Amino acid sequence: MSVEKTQVLAALRRVKGPDLESNIVDLGLLSEILIKNDRVYFSITIPASRAEELEQLRKAAEKVVSDLPGVAGASVVLTADMSGGMQRAPAPPPIRPTASVAAPAQPAAAPSPVVEHARVQAARAKGATGDGAGPRQAASAAASGERQMAGIPGVKHVIAVASGKGGVGKSTTAVNLALGLQAIGLKVGIIDADIYGPSQPRLLGITGKPQVAHGKVIKPMEGWGLKVMSMGFLVDEATPVVWRGPMVVSALGQMLRETDWAGSTGDLDVLVVDMPPGTGDIQLTISQNVPLSGAVIVSTPQDLALIDARKGIAMFKRVEVPILGIVENMSYFLCPSCGTRSDIFGHGGAADEARNLGVPFLGEIPLHMDIRETSDSGKPVTVTAPDSVHAGIFRELAAEVWTEVERAKGTLTPPPILDVIDGGSTLKAAFPDGRTFEFSAEMLRVMSPSAEVQGHSPEQRVTVGRKKHVKIKDLKPVGNYATRIGFDDGHNTGLFTWGYLHLLGREKDQRWGAYLEELGAKGLTRE
Ligand code: ADP
Repeated sequence: MSVEKTQVLAALRRVKGPDLESNIVDLGLLSEILIKNDRVYFSITIPASRAEELEQLRKAAEKVVSDLPGVAGASVVLTADMSGGMQRAPAPPPIRPTASVAAPAQPAAAPSPVVEHARVQAARAKGATGDGAGPRQAASAAASGERQMAGIPGVKHVIAVASGKGGVGKSTTAVNLALGLQAIGLKVGIIDADIYGPSQPRLLGITGKPQVAHGKVIKPMEGWGLKVMSMGFLVDEATPVVWRGPMVVSALGQMLRETDWAGSTGDLDVLVVDMPPGTGDIQLTISQNVPLSGAVIVSTPQDLALIDARKGIAMFKRVEVPILGIVENMSYFLCPSCGTRSDIFGHGGAADEARNLGVPFLGEIPLHMDIRETSDSGKPVTVTAPDSVHAGIFRELAAEVWTEVERAKGTLTPPPILDVIDGGSTLKAAFPDGRTFEFSAEMLRVMSPSAEVQGHSPEQRVTVGRKKHVKIKDLKPVGNYATRIGFDDGHNTGLFTWGYLHLLGREKDQRWGAYLEELGAKGLTRE
């Protein structure tokens, strides 16, 4: 028996509003209620400044609905009512919110203690908030002043790709960035949260819907080696845009956590979230509901887009998500027939803006027919033309983004001193931490983090044989975070970040042993 919306509303009438005056239904705080596959999704609008104290309210609403017969689960989020939130005082201290609360941290005012409404305190003391949280838990949470955002199972890092407005190439950049991250040897997934036009399945040439793997865990779709989920799998295209927003906010967190990202291939190093364009409440709430390691802002060179990009940066800063940097898309026109570059929108706008704002500038992507055609036909340029200039640009973008992720989490590997010795047969890398590694040219060649060696995904990694006598021809530094190594057999597309080189050094013996085993198993030789 499936549950009816009227039953859900009746249950929710038992949940009191923020000031315990009326109930959340009659106060008009609920979004539209969506029931799909016996799961109930909705959001509750609350003043932004009170999000922290009202987590109990969210839990209570989730519980009364989950307890209804015929309900398999409920997903409830708080969405910020920005206008109310901005007027109220006192401000909560600037801390990261929990997984399910929409609480914009206020501008860096002096931290003040979280003051709970007296009636909420009294109700909690009596256990009347409906969630079983007594005074002790509440007190300890407030006292610690630290709020933890639950991680996503099977995912090490989540990065958002956002833009101040639509049409700047955010989705195109997101998918090629994801594929670029994969080409530098990482395990990558992408989730499309762009409700206004979910495009990742189309960009990756995926059709169909994901399947439930076991229990309620969803098996993600796959495209070009990426694990893929999209709000488009969940939200009907016929659903009116006005209430797709709250639905996405409530369903996204759930989709993130109930997807089997790791599968049989292990945890993803990074999951890219293609955000809805713009910087309104929906984007703000997503940024607060998803444990982001950082955000990449895509902009075009025109001023207007940059103004919007600035708003995007301000939004992420408010919720303390590190800005990994700005990418300038459609930066210059690259003539498809003669390859001439024309700076039709002027040049350097985004780089200047990044400098002014004190955020990294991650690079420029040209406006080019091949990027449009490959994107729109589900064959992204980074995988279908790995040797093209564009693929190289996206791999560099990816390496730069990954470097910023490491910098943000404080694990960035500083540059080593590199020496090519033995007539090109060995690379010596002396790192500032005192560790020095020597790599044979053969090892670097066969473990090159490039599309040629990595294939489209870690599982498709190509085993390269017959490289015993290969030599290093040259080293070309890329920014201050990587080097490109050219070999005398013509291979030169691998971008070795300092982090990857250090990792190769630390795991040299295991990796070399695994390579020899792989060669043997495939009947290949080193000679
Ligand atoms: P957004 O996600 O910002 O709305 P899209 O990624 O959907 O933007 O891009 C909008 C259109 O512009 C698409 O047709 C896409 O193929 C095209 N496009 C994006 N970036 C480029 C580029 N660098 N060169 C050529 N076409 C591009």
